Amino acid sequence: MPPRIVVLAGDGIGPEIVTATCRVMETALRRANAAVELVHKPIGLAALEQQGRTIPAETEAAIKSADGVLLGPLTTHVYDIFDPKTANPSAYLRRNFDLYANVRPARSRPGVPSVAKDVDLVVMRENTEGFYSDRNLLDGNGELRPDADTVLSVRVITRKACLRIARAGFELARARKGKRRVSLIHKANVLRRSDGLFLECCREVAREFPEIAVDDFHIDAAAMHLILKPAHFDVIVTTNMYGDILSDEAAGLAGGLGLAAGLNAGERLAMAQAVHGSAPDITGKGIANPSAEIMSAAMLLQWLAERRDDAALGCAGEAMQTAIDATLAQGKTLTPDLGGRASTAQFAAAVVEMLEGRG
Ligand code: NAD
Repeated sequence: MPPRIVVLAGDGIGPEIVTATCRVMETALRRANAAVELVHKPIGLAALEQQGRTIPAETEAAIKSADGVLLGPLTTHVYDIFDPKTANPSAYLRRNFDLYANVRPARSRPGVPSVAKDVDLVVMRENTEGFYSDRNLLDGNGELRPDADTVLSVRVITRKACLRIARAGFELARARKGKRRVSLIHKANVLRRSDGLFLECCREVAREFPEIAVDDFHIDAAAMHLILKPAHFDVIVTTNMYGDILSDEAAGLAGGLGLAAGLNAGERLAMAQAVHGSAPDITGKGIANPSAEIMSAAMLLQWLAERRDDAALGCAGEAMQTAIDATLAQGKTLTPDLGGRASTAQFAAAVVEMLEGRG
């Protein structure tokens, strides 16, 4: 049976970039002789309007029996997270399907204007706890308001989550065969217990990977080092909120959010999801850069290829990454965020041509 991927378009620019992604993915799969079943289901604000829930039961059931998910960005700030009918799908799926490892690569590329030319790193961000108040308690919300003028935010750090994100980071550093370095990012000078536990767990896992160099930085210093010496970094392992912030910073250095891909991986399921949001300022204009979503889908195919020992799927994923790089390097068909004038659909067509050897 071919793997099944549930496709969820999302809000804002989501439908525009997910349509482009499916077009590219279908071409890559066909050319690699790889089979995937794509099943489209409603999600987000469109699902709320049509079915009264942001995550309809049919969508959740489809994900339960799927091998992967392709999710478009969501306009998360408008969701009423205190009402189960209007749950934020991104948080809900990450938590309820235990997609604990948020893998966010950032790389400078020929042809792409960028602040730094020597970025080649991956942020391995813990995805299920930390400061994210809508997912870090079994019941209720981690932001508590004892009176009108006081709010307490609960940050959850567990040994289990630290150990497994550390392991994912070290395994990635080994597989990348790059600088072979893991940088642990924390604030253990202040958050002695929580980030102290994070560091303790990471160092325990590090002992199993003697060939990987390890260093650590406080989050504030890391934010500066990332700008001043991005080439130092290979794999960054960190907790949820630090990882969210550092991955946007790395994306900004390497050419912007339009190129920032991401995968949310668990033991059984993985969900492709670009780092960026739903970009309300450009929604409906047909000019969003679909590269991040396309490369997220490619990461999903590569993840599935490894799990299923399916070389054809891996070839399809790799071909998508290569075709994006080649289209960007050629520089003829770029979306406005990269200084070009192409539409989302024109960019996707250029990537398809590249895949078909006509670029
Ligand atoms: P954003 O990432 O949507 O946009 C930030 C800037 O980057 C905007 O100027 C936007 O036009 C640009 N941009 C983003 N993606 C682009 C693309 N593919 N091509 C070209 N330009 C692109 O961040 P925001 O404005 O802070 O948030 C908008 C909404 O998205 C909010 O509701 C926020 O909560 C939500 N959000 C969702 C996710 C997600 O679903 N994973 C992630 C971040 C933010």
